[in-house]
Amino acid sequence: MSVRLPERSSLALIKGKPVRYRVRRSRRTRKMGIQVCKRDGLVIILPERMGLKVVPELLEYWADWIDTKADEYDIRQGPRVRQFATGSVLSILGKPRHLAIVNLPNGRKRPVIDLTDDSLTLALAPADVFDVRPVMEKYLRRLARQDLTERTAIWADRIGLFPRKVIVGERTSRWGSCSARGTLSFCYRLVMAPPEAVDAVVAHEICHLAHLNHSRRFYSLLDRVCPDHRESMKWLREHEDDLLL
Ligand SMILES: [Zn+2]
Repeated sequence: MSVRLPERSSLALIKGKPVRYRVRRSRRTRKMGIQVCKRDGLVIILPERMGLKVVPELLEYWADWIDTKADEYDIRQGPRVRQFATGSVLSILGKPRHLAIVNLPNGRKRPVIDLTDDSLTLALAPADVFDVRPVMEKYLRRLARQDLTERTAIWADRIGLFPRKVIVGERTSRWGSCSARGTLSFCYRLVMAPPEAVDAVVAHEICHLAHLNHSRRFYSLLDRVCPDHRESMKWLREHEDDLLL
């Protein structure tokens, strides 16, 4: 039996500048890997049994790339994750909600979540209290699915174009997309954005059901049905980092 140690971060000097990184073990890979993203920072992925002595070499080999990405994503001090604790404020469905994390009564394991007009209470088992994120993400995904499905139905009626299917998942580079087969996909993190921004994304993707491009005809339709879409998209671009979980 093995015990999984918590991931700890270390400091590397890349081109003379410090960058925090973590090593993650993967059972599924036999190759080493390296990734940089806002959410996890710099992560080195190693096959389960590979020794750590390859790490300096790997960092050295990728130094130029890491150096550029570390600035681009601002992760030199580690990932810019949001801290969830009682008292934090999170915008959900357009309203600020004060977070409260409480313990479930003894013996109960399933999280109990209560959203009110100005609060979000998570009642959690002791094991979940240390890492609220998975519970929070699951909950926000559910809320997002409901909200985006409703909004899509409203905008589809309004515009007179109907998607074949609506998918809500995690998107890293785009808030929404439309496939040639008429499937709309949205990023669940939109649930933290103001409703007018979410509407702009939904209207944009529905207009793609008529024009699967960014042509003048596409924009003249979008301008007509959602005149404020440009300001909303600008808001999303400027607040991208606030909408990370
Ligand atoms: Zn588009």
